Amino acid sequence: MKVIDLKHQWASCTPGGNLNFHRKCMMAPLTVIDYIVVHELAHLLYSNHTAAFWNQVDKVMPDFQERKDWLRANGAGMDL
Ligand SMILES: [Zn+2]
Repeated sequence: MKVIDLKHQWASCTPGGNLNFHRKCMMAPLTVIDYIVVHELAHLLYSNHTAAFWNQVDKVMPDFQERKDWLRANGAGMDL
């Protein structure tokens, strides 16, 4: 895992399963960072944002919507 300056995302995962986090993540609450990790790990199973993807996130983290809302409110246009 490494922290790099991703321009448009909070985090990304490579096909090899490496997670890269935007340095801005370090300013987010831990609960939100947890959500970012779960989100990216779910992308290892689904490389898209289909209903199946969100079902997977929901299964691991039933209150993910709250954390997602925090990102939307505080993410200054960053997309995840
Ligand atoms: Zn995503």
